Amino acid sequence: MGEAFSTARAFHGIRQRSSSVDWHDIVWHSKRIPKHAFSLWLALRGAHRTKDKLLAFGVVHSAECAFLCGETETLEHLFFQCPFSAMVWREDLYMCNIVRPILPWADEVLWMSTHAKGNAFHHTVRRLTFAATTYHLWIERNRRCFKNLFLPHQEIIRLVRQDVSGMLASGNSSLRCERHHSLCVNWCVPLGEDI
Ligand SMILES: [Zn+2]
Repeated sequence: MGEAFSTARAFHGIRQRSSSVDWHDIVWHSKRIPKHAFSLWLALRGAHRTKDKLLAFGVVHSAECAFLCGETETLEHLFFQCPFSAMVWREDLYMCNIVRPILPWADEVLWMSTHAKGNAFHHTVRRLTFAATTYHLWIERNRRCFKNLFLPHQEIIRLVRQDVSGMLASGNSSLRCERHHSLCVNWCVPLGEDI
């Protein structure tokens, strides 16, 4: 007789199969926030049901971006080519002390896979920020589509900061060095140990 289906076992199986991809470590790390990690994993698999896909299936009549920029909602647009998303992502990167142009989605993933995969405090900050931003942008998109409620971009940034700082403050691994001090100030996290 076959084994009963288990969601947990199926999910674990999916995680195992994705362990060979470059972005595995930026999603499945020990400090991850589960709902953020799941949302990021969906985005990395291209699994979000964006309006371009729904339009192709005849589910919606318009693929117009929920952030009212006039463009078509695609995964690439949502993360983070849309002007609304770009404002949020630019500010979130800035809080990570990263100042650079917004990249196309595939390049953002590649950048994070290269620059946020280590155990250093600033790598953890980057991973948490990446997942929190994709999560809160998707939630805001859904809020606008299904509830007709609109939060300004400053509020999305506040929610990202709240979640990231909450996780960083629990088991704070920052050190009292200049780099970590600056990140802790940006994210409103108590300063860590002396080095
Ligand atoms: Zn847009």
